[in-house]
Amino acid sequence: MHILCLDLEGVLIPEIWLEFSERTGIAELARTTRDEPDYDRLMRARLDILRRHKLGLADIQQVIERMGPLPGAQEFLGAMRSRFQVVILSDTFSQFAQPLMRQLGWPTLFCHELDIGPDGEVRDYRLRMADHKRAAVRAFKALNFRTIAAGDSYNDVAMLGEAHAGIFVHPPAHVAAQFPHFPVTRSFAELEATIVRAAEPA
Ligand SMILES: [Mg+2]
Repeated sequence: MHILCLDLEGVLIPEIWLEFSERTGIAELARTTRDEPDYDRLMRARLDILRRHKLGLADIQQVIERMGPLPGAQEFLGAMRSRFQVVILSDTFSQFAQPLMRQLGWPTLFCHELDIGPDGEVRDYRLRMADHKRAAVRAFKALNFRTIAAGDSYNDVAMLGEAHAGIFVHPPAHVAAQFPHFPVTRSFAELEATIVRAAEPA
């Protein structure tokens, strides 16, 4: 039995912070895990920018409400869920994910949480646990599952390495070059074919 672990942003949906940066015109919010491997440093900087611009959760959620999954994501996810148990492992926050999870048919999602103040201010963020993508894959393996993981960025590399099969989904060139042992896919068709091949008995 296989469990398929999928990253969310950059794989099934656009990067929430990039979209938010474009709509607000705040260029410094465009940095993502693709640019900054240190997630805590990245999040501290984001919270600081939100504070300086007096932007709260409602402003961010307004943007997310208008976002949709990437073209083809719903069909891909449906096809994968018919063959595997699928778990989405994301470094996003439950408060951000909800409108998009609805559009994806409420797949299983493990992610983090924001600490929101009474006035809607984003006060802090709470990691569900450190390195949770890798920890989840490791736990699934301990439950005797075969694991396949796919993601696009630095914050997926540990989970890709922990899984029986790790697959990149249109990674930036410098990330792919740094971890050349993971196969690179550039479309949902390629990704699906690579996942199905990885699930075949050796
Ligand atoms: Mg991603």
